[in-house]
Amino acid sequence: MEYKLQKNVRSRPEVKPPYAAPRYIAMSPDQWSVFWSLTIPHRVRNFWWRLLLHKLPTRLRLVKFKIPQVTTPTCAICQETPEDDHHMVIGCPLKEDLWHRALAHAGKTLSPVEIWNMVTFTTLPRKKKGLEDHTPLLCIMARVLTTVWQQHWATILDDDLWSSDKAYSKYLLHLWQHGMQDD
Ligand SMILES: [Zn+2]
Repeated sequence: MEYKLQKNVRSRPEVKPPYAAPRYIAMSPDQWSVFWSLTIPHRVRNFWWRLLLHKLPTRLRLVKFKIPQVTTPTCAICQETPEDDHHMVIGCPLKEDLWHRALAHAGKTLSPVEIWNMVTFTTLPRKKKGLEDHTPLLCIMARVLTTVWQQHWATILDDDLWSSDKAYSKYLLHLWQHGMQDD
């Protein structure tokens, strides 16, 4: 059998079920429209957008691209597992703990799979009407993503060890400083 290769299709990074992320082309125009209309800080929109496009600077990706400073795909925070998209956002046990505490603060209980499926839009409605009901929770998730991103780089670049209590305090401080306002 002969396969016709499509030149414009990018190779898909390895993802494990049930954490398979959709390709950016899998998101509906309404989902993109809701994503762009969320009232969230610019820097977290950038982080989130990179996740949706499979362009996060994970260690797996940096090693693949032969970035000299990164010699191992192993996560620098837990030092146990290769850092792929899922691990960088929620799979790292220390980050998962932050997600649980932050969502509990908002009165929500979601499993890691449910969180991942929401932030990747996998299980969200594809039409604007149904999507709008999820906007408040997506905005809360944006706050958690902000803290994950900030604490991630504080740990990597400033050698500031990730502590669950410190990450959660940073999250609460972020909520207090910014509320649900854009910044
Ligand atoms: Zn880790």
